Amino acid sequence: MPSSSPRAKKQIEDGRIRTLLLWYRRHGRDLPWRRTRDPYAICVSEIMLQQTQVARVIPFYESWMKRFPSWESLANANTPELIRAWSGLGYNRRALYLREAAKTVCERGVPHTEEGWRALKGIGPYAAAAIHTFVAQEPAAAIDTNVRRVIGRLVLRKPFPTQQDDHAVRRALQAIFHRKQDWKALHAIMDLGAMVCQARKPNCLECPLREQCVSAKRFLTSSVVRPKTAIVQERIHEGKRFPDRIYRGRILRLLQTASSYSIRRIGNMIDDSYDDTQDREWILRMIDRMQRDGLIEMKRERIQLPIQK
Ligand code: SF4
Repeated sequence: MPSSSPRAKKQIEDGRIRTLLLWYRRHGRDLPWRRTRDPYAICVSEIMLQQTQVARVIPFYESWMKRFPSWESLANANTPELIRAWSGLGYNRRALYLREAAKTVCERGVPHTEEGWRALKGIGPYAAAAIHTFVAQEPAAAIDTNVRRVIGRLVLRKPFPTQQDDHAVRRALQAIFHRKQDWKALHAIMDLGAMVCQARKPNCLECPLREQCVSAKRFLTSSVVRPKTAIVQERIHEGKRFPDRIYRGRILRLLQTASSYSIRRIGNMIDDSYDDTQDREWILRMIDRMQRDGLIEMKRERIQLPIQK
C-alpha cells in the first residue's frame, strides 16, 4: 500500500469508494425499502431486519406496509392486529416497540438526527444510524455484522472483527465517508458483506476490492486461522428441543385462532413432550414473561391476546 500522507490516504479512500459504488450499481440488491425515502417505511424495514434475514423480511414488509401504511395507522393499531401481522417474523416485541415509536412520532414529529431516532423505543445505535443515513441521505457510521466484517478486513487487517473493534471500524467508516453523497456506499458495504465477503469464507477472487484490501492476501493464501465462534445463548428449558422463542411463537399463533386458552391446555398444544408435573413451572414463567412484554393477558387461568391498545 502506498504511504500515509493525508493526501495519499484520501486517494486510497476515494479509490475504495469509487470501486464500491461501481460494484453496487451492477450487483447491489434491489430491496423494496431501498426504493423509498419515506422515513416510516425505512424505519419499519430496519426494525424487521434486526435478527431476521433479508429474504424472510421482504414478504412481511410488503404486507405490513399495506396493512399499516403510515405512522398514524400503526399508532392506532391494537395489539392483536399487530401480533397477527408480525406473526412468523419472530421476536414479536419488536412490533409493540414499533407502535410505541409511531406514537412518539405522531406526538413529536419525525426525527431529523441520528440521536432523534435513537430516542425512539426499540431503536438502538445501529438502527438509528442506518435510518438516518437512508432517510437524510447523509452518511453515518451504522455498524452491523456485515459492515463490521467488511471494514475490519478491508482496512483494519482483522479477518474476524468483533464488537470490540467497533471504535476502529467507526473511525475507518468516517474516513471512507467524507462526502455527503457517499451515503450510498453503506448499502454497497452491506451487500458486499452479504454476497462476497461472507463470514466463513470470503470470495476474495471475485471481490471488487481485492487490490485495495489489506486482508485479501492472507485469505487467498489460506493463512487465516478462524477463531472458535462463541455460541449465542438462547433460553432453552432443560429437556426441550427448541429455544423458548419457538414456543412463545406457537402460543401467539394459537391465540390467533381462539379468543382464549386455558393455561392447563396450552402446554400440550405447543409441545408434544409436555409433562405437566415437570414442565408446568416452565410454562408459567414463559407466560409471565409474555405478559410483562405486553404480548398476552391472563384472566382466570386463561390467556388471550391483549384487548386494549
Ligand atoms: S478482498 Fe476478500 S477479505 Fe477483502 S473485502 Fe474483499 S472479500 Fe473481503
